[in-house]
Amino acid sequence: MKKNVWLGIIAVLALTAAGWVFFSQPKKFKLAGEFATTGVCLSCKADGQAVFKKGEYEPLKCPSCGDVAFYSWWYCNECGYRFVPDLMKDGSNAPKPNPFSKCAHCNCQSVAKFDPEFHAPHGDARLPKWPP
Ligand SMILES: [Zn+2]
Ligand SMILES: [Zn+2]
Repeated sequence: MKKNVWLGIIAVLALTAAGWVFFSQPKKFKLAGEFATTGVCLSCKADGQAVFKKGEYEPLKCPSCGDVAFYSWWYCNECGYRFVPDLMKDGSNAPKPNPFSKCAHCNCQSVAKFDPEFHAPHGDARLPKWPP
């Protein structure tokens, strides 16, 4: 009888330890399916990175001010400027960026999503008007 009580206590301790280990594990899978993009918030003008999930579209929630006004930088191969594509006038407070935008600085079409690893911008074009 006494032996069983001890076994019970040990079992409870083991379960508690297992639970503690389980719940104190870092949330390894939190970042699965999340992506970061380099851009700028048109509301507070914070320049940096925002995280989005698959299926989420711009504008993203700004990590600095919380407004849904964060747009990715694009890069112009001609003039080397970064720019935010012109915004589609859809009547909302968070218009989508035009996917076929021209460079906001020199108006050419040789543009790509800005990548800080490959592009060394010469400057930033004027940002679209905000609020839209
Ligand atoms: Zn902001
Ligand atoms: Zn350009």
